Amino acid sequence: MNFPFSVDYRITSRCNHDCSECYGPKNIRELSTEDSLKVIKYLKENNSKRLVITGGEPLLRKDIDELIKSASLCGLETYFVTSGYDYFSHKEIIDKNCAYLSLPLNSTKDNRLKSITAILESYNKGIKPFIKLGSVVSADNYGNLEELGELLSNYPIDLWILYELIPVKDASKTVNLELLKEKRIELSKKISKFDIKITPRFRTKAYFMINPDATIILPYEKNGLYSEEIIGSLFDNDILTKWQIKSKELNSWNWKEI
Ligand code: SF4
Repeated sequence: MNFPFSVDYRITSRCNHDCSECYGPKNIRELSTEDSLKVIKYLKENNSKRLVITGGEPLLRKDIDELIKSASLCGLETYFVTSGYDYFSHKEIIDKNCAYLSLPLNSTKDNRLKSITAILESYNKGIKPFIKLGSVVSADNYGNLEELGELLSNYPIDLWILYELIPVKDASKTVNLELLKEKRIELSKKISKFDIKITPRFRTKAYFMINPDATIILPYEKNGLYSEEIIGSLFDNDILTKWQIKSKELNSWNWKEI
């Protein structure tokens, strides 16, 4: 089979945060180390090129170093998404094996501020992965984006992405996409140290997304809110066909950056 170039593996549903905008997996059994390694190997055998390790918080897995190393060793370009739990116990492995580090921070008041800025600080010197900082924009932090941008300017970030809020339970805090585009232009005039992009919430090209239990899910919009559907197991012989058919049917989201 030819799996998609880039695959997201939600390696655990456990997290040490409880963000209101979270649409990550909840209470889903995660695979053993041995079975997680099989997932990684299977992706490589089926011609994926990039693995995005995400969660939950991937660093809560005790075997995370082994999984990162295995992805990199088998030749998958490895992207890592974390809020920074116990980051410095894993930094050496991440730096050596991951091409891309994705960190979340929504405002200067975000309770992840300390852990994220500590990570960024550590990259002020020396070799670093490509660093993307992602902020989910809602009515709660729209007015704080200048302040956040100024703070981020102190750190070696390569890209700042402003994500349009994907409403999970309540759409009332969504910020109009046009306003977000205007804000991006304003911010780009003031901040020249890194690129700023927008990712809208409606995406028509599907993710190939693996849940902690190795089921494949497709995210889609239902009545203006986030929804997802399980379409089978990664190891089903016809998973690719099912994924292609279902993604057309659900009009699953397009990973499009403006
Ligand atoms: S840190 Fe990420 S995975 Fe954890 S609750 Fe927040 S959005 Fe969800």
